Amino acid sequence: MIPFNKPYLTGKETKYIEEAVASGKISGNGIFTQKCQAFFEEKYGFRKALLTTSCTDALEMCALLANINPGDEVIVPDYTFVSSALAFVRQGANIVFADSYDNNPNIDANKIEELITEKTKAIVVVHYAGIACDMEKILSIVNKHNLILIEDAAQAIDSFYTFKDGTQKALGSIGHLGAFSFHETKNIISGEGGMLTINDEKFINRAEIIWEKGTNRSMFFRGEINKYGWVDTGSSFLPSEIISAFLWAQLENLNDIQQKRLEIWDRYYNGLKNNSKISLPIIPEYATNNAHMFYIICENLDDRTALIKKLKDNGILAVFHYLSLHKSEYYNQKHDKRELPNSDHFEENLLRLPLFYELSENEQQRVIDLINEF
Ligand SMILES: *Cc1c(COP(=O)(O)O)cnc(C)c1O
Repeated sequence: MIPFNKPYLTGKETKYIEEAVASGKISGNGIFTQKCQAFFEEKYGFRKALLTTSCTDALEMCALLANINPGDEVIVPDYTFVSSALAFVRQGANIVFADSYDNNPNIDANKIEELITEKTKAIVVVHYAGIACDMEKILSIVNKHNLILIEDAAQAIDSFYTFKDGTQKALGSIGHLGAFSFHETKNIISGEGGMLTINDEKFINRAEIIWEKGTNRSMFFRGEINKYGWVDTGSSFLPSEIISAFLWAQLENLNDIQQKRLEIWDRYYNGLKNNSKISLPIIPEYATNNAHMFYIICENLDDRTALIKKLKDNGILAVFHYLSLHKSEYYNQKHDKRELPNSDHFEENLLRLPLFYELSENEQQRVIDLINEF
């Protein structure tokens, strides 16, 4: 059996959890949380990082920070996970779904501006498979219309965007706000877990308050005020030290994990690139690859269904991905009826192959051979 995913443990996770427990401080915002946050800020240039209990939570914080109110419009890609839209729907926003490129599941930056109205408040971009969206173009739209830019960087840890002047920035450090996931299916994991990144100074104070149940406790702990109280909306968005301790063990091995995943990704690419019946991921010049995912695009739905079956009959689990959100049971009545053909195309034809740290070369060759035979 070759599973689709197998969470990788570096070996130190339980040791650090024991340390956290023994320290007597196991609630949130302790030493491990702060170590993880400092690591991310230093390595990727986030102005401020706050660990959260999930990426979904981090996106909910974004919706609160962006002051999304009933009737506001938020532009969200159609081909994405539910959370990218849900966080804003909970604040009463109307979601305006944007289509993908025809050869890349990311939001088509050339088709965003036509979706903007006077009610538009924010744009959410999703760096699908950890491959950057066209951030320079999107930033110019955001600045022109005075919108808030939120990066759903759930899949995008350790991936970068290169601007035309050569500057390179980490994904999640470019928009006003960014959201990452450490769910067990991502590159770096803590079971459930996430992170909010704040790149515009003006959101930092309020983010800390929303993170700590609407109180100014973070300022109190830093000695900036002499008592703390309820000052704003918020929730319990911060993870316990047990989660952060787990995450720290992963971060110590981030380079090793990334190198291994990239080797696996390259082996798939080279093994499948001469197969004319499928298309492979396109990495634009401005983007890097963080090997979050390896997907192929089949010629049609029947091909994909048959390929999934063939792989399954041979003990290999390959899985399709998102169902276009505009057609979902929950939102289809509220969708504005526009067709989103490219999103539908990826819904029907995209297939993800097993990719995890412990996938052996032999196992991988079997997957490649079966696809090429097919
Ligand atoms: C995984 C994922 C999420 C949700 O992450 P959680 O940490 O499980 O909440 C959101 N958006 C995208 C694009 C994802 O891939």
